[in-house]
Amino acid sequence: IQSKLPKVGTTIFTRMSRLAEDHKAINLAQGFPEFDCSPELQKLVDKYIDQGKNQYAPMAGVMGLREAISQKVFAATKTEYHPESEITITSGATEALYVAISTVVNPGDEVIVFEPAYDSYVPAIEMNGGIPVFVTLDPQYEYIDWEIVKSKVTNKTRAIIINTPHNPTGKVWTEFDLKQLDFLADKNNLFVISDEVYEHIIFDDLKHVSAASIPSLASRTFLCGSFGKTFHVTGWKVGYCLAPKEFTAEFRKIHQFMVFSVITPFQFAIAEFLRQPEHYQTLSAFYERKRNIFNEAIKDIGFILKPSEGSFFQNVSYKNLSEENDLVLAERLTKEAGVASIPLSAFYGEETNFRVLRFCFAKNDDTLLRAAELLNKVI
Ligand code: PMP
Ligand code: GLN
Repeated sequence: IQSKLPKVGTTIFTRMSRLAEDHKAINLAQGFPEFDCSPELQKLVDKYIDQGKNQYAPMAGVMGLREAISQKVFAATKTEYHPESEITITSGATEALYVAISTVVNPGDEVIVFEPAYDSYVPAIEMNGGIPVFVTLDPQYEYIDWEIVKSKVTNKTRAIIINTPHNPTGKVWTEFDLKQLDFLADKNNLFVISDEVYEHIIFDDLKHVSAASIPSLASRTFLCGSFGKTFHVTGWKVGYCLAPKEFTAEFRKIHQFMVFSVITPFQFAIAEFLRQPEHYQTLSAFYERKRNIFNEAIKDIGFILKPSEGSFFQNVSYKNLSEENDLVLAERLTKEAGVASIPLSAFYGEETNFRVLRFCFAKNDDTLLRAAELLNKVI
């Protein structure tokens, strides 16, 4: 069979999770919480299953969930997304991203991607015949150089993909960044795809600046979100895409033939749970504490800790500890220390060796402490 994605293998998340399992290692690789969702949310799922909400949901999603999202986003950004025509419930943010990219990218179109980049963007661009054009973030992840971004725009540039808070670096985009993006997208008539799945996991009193909070930017953006991270339910795969009416109409043409609709009782449950802001407003403090516990526990190993401003990932540089390539080290630590991580090179288009590993700290405190102890013994 002629491969459509010749450069793509099994994702690094699957590979490292498998390796962790084979070696009974603590899995700080693939990003998912070790803990369960709120019992209240689970009970709501039971309630709606018992009520018989078990047949196909509407193609665009359960209306109550679309309304709850609309109100929540309006409260945070003052931008109104109409539940009927501008909000679509998707099978996780993964589907939202794939469909948004498919909606705007035609063969030969260039799409600007910041790397390190979450791994689903590039294959989705390539499946649509598009060409990813990379902007490599400063290795310290301290700022985005907008002059470089500008220099990558050509007359073939069709879209730009952003992600804040950022996986894998934990970088949070500032209002200045979003304004620069707005200016650039407006000047060059670009679509924007904004991945905001970690919107509620943000530290040190920083604020999430959504693409929806700048009206002119919102008017050219597909905003992709997910409940997986927010409610500790990555396995439910319920996400959404917010976009202006004409964008959403085209988006739904693809969504309806990709999945048609998304799991029904879970949408009802999330709709009800989402109505109470305290269900997501405490998440940042919860994860900031985990970040601090993990960082404190690993501080004597000798890693250089990169700033983690949001998301549930901590990146560490080991350049003063080892010459090893990051994949080699991540595999060795899984086998010898019993702690799995993700090599940062997995998030780059070209081979790199910044000698950085990504650890997920969405784990119980004792797991984080045990992982640090195990790492300490081996490194
Ligand atoms: N974008 C980013 C940056 C992510 O980290 C993830 C989750 N790993 C996704 C998208 C996909 O989200 P979902 O699990 O809802 O499909
Ligand atoms: N988003 C998760 C991560 O970055 C993994 C999701 C997946 O396995 N596809 O680790």
